[in-house]
Amino acid sequence: MKISRRRLLQISGVGFVIAGLLPRMACAARSSLKSMRTGVQPNGKTRIVIETSGRPSYTLVYSPEKLTVRLSNTIGDTSVSAKLASGTLVKNMTQTQVGDSLNIIAELRKPISEIPKNQIMVLEPNGDNDYRLVLDFVAGATNGVAAAASSSGGNETSTRKRIIVLDPGHGGKDPGCIGRGGTKEKAFVLSVGRKLRSALQNAGFAVYMTRADDTYLKLADRAAIAEKKKADLFISIHANANPSRSMKGFSIYTLSEKASDEEAQKLADAENAADKIDVSGFESFSKDIRIALSSLQQHAVAEMSEEYANDCARAFKRAGIEQQPGPAVRHAPLAVLRSTVPGALIECGHLSNSSEEKLLKSSAHQDKLVAAIVRSIKNYDFEA
Ligand SMILES: [Zn+2]
Repeated sequence: MKISRRRLLQISGVGFVIAGLLPRMACAARSSLKSMRTGVQPNGKTRIVIETSGRPSYTLVYSPEKLTVRLSNTIGDTSVSAKLASGTLVKNMTQTQVGDSLNIIAELRKPISEIPKNQIMVLEPNGDNDYRLVLDFVAGATNGVAAAASSSGGNETSTRKRIIVLDPGHGGKDPGCIGRGGTKEKAFVLSVGRKLRSALQNAGFAVYMTRADDTYLKLADRAAIAEKKKADLFISIHANANPSRSMKGFSIYTLSEKASDEEAQKLADAENAADKIDVSGFESFSKDIRIALSSLQQHAVAEMSEEYANDCARAFKRAGIEQQPGPAVRHAPLAVLRSTVPGALIECGHLSNSSEEKLLKSSAHQDKLVAAIVRSIKNYDFEA
């Protein structure tokens, strides 16, 4: 049986108790409210964080300008008042005890639609924090298709056009790496990106590109495009270079705070250097939001990205595309992948290897890469 890790992560404690996966939770001590706060995410979404001493079991109740988070088996604490950040959709946040349940009521400046599951997270205790229920949302009916699908009850999510954002790396003043034969990474990845766009459109996907010409874009702006387009998947296309001219083959990267190996770290350093972004911290955010954001990445988004990266590596191998020695899927703190959209960075091969440079330049090989990526996207379980 395929257990959806994404679902497991999203379903609240309620789901676990009902499913009997964690029966001990059923008689767990009553949870208590520790804090409640709001913040603004880098993409402008409003974030609500509700911290409790135990794993939260929650139900969300929507009325046009009010969001009620019903926490079962939870006791309120009147000394806890909401910390409200400015610039969010939340006007006010209060608590009301209703029997064994605690209602957290957020009064909103604008109506919201149902928050999609992938924007709801339960985070494990971490440092100074207890369990946190994290909700991210925007105003209007644009929180995602989950709302539309659940209100009409059909299989609409499976017929909706999936949104793919393609990100040809580098561009403009940043050529990326340059092969011995003069091939520039920025040109190679743009060519692959364009081919991939038409192939994916033909396969029924909605496709956006972070750049469709030779322009320079900051890494955070690329990630922001994926957020803005509400992408289901973000794919950054690159080619590699290695001091060893004999090194060749593809590798696929997903985001992690720590690099999986020294080479992954070097690659992240090289790719992140594109705009000298500081990848070690989230300086512009409060500590709470910072922790929630990094945990969020380490959880659902990371799981989904990993799943895609494995699909992609499989498709490349099946297509007979040479793999770089070592693991096909690696992890690195890549700034361009820092978002709430699952995704991967594909290093298609090494421009520093002259035979591979020739291959990467050839239209036939680019078509092969494109076909493999299309296959991997078709195989990816968007519903997981
Ligand atoms: Zn690159």
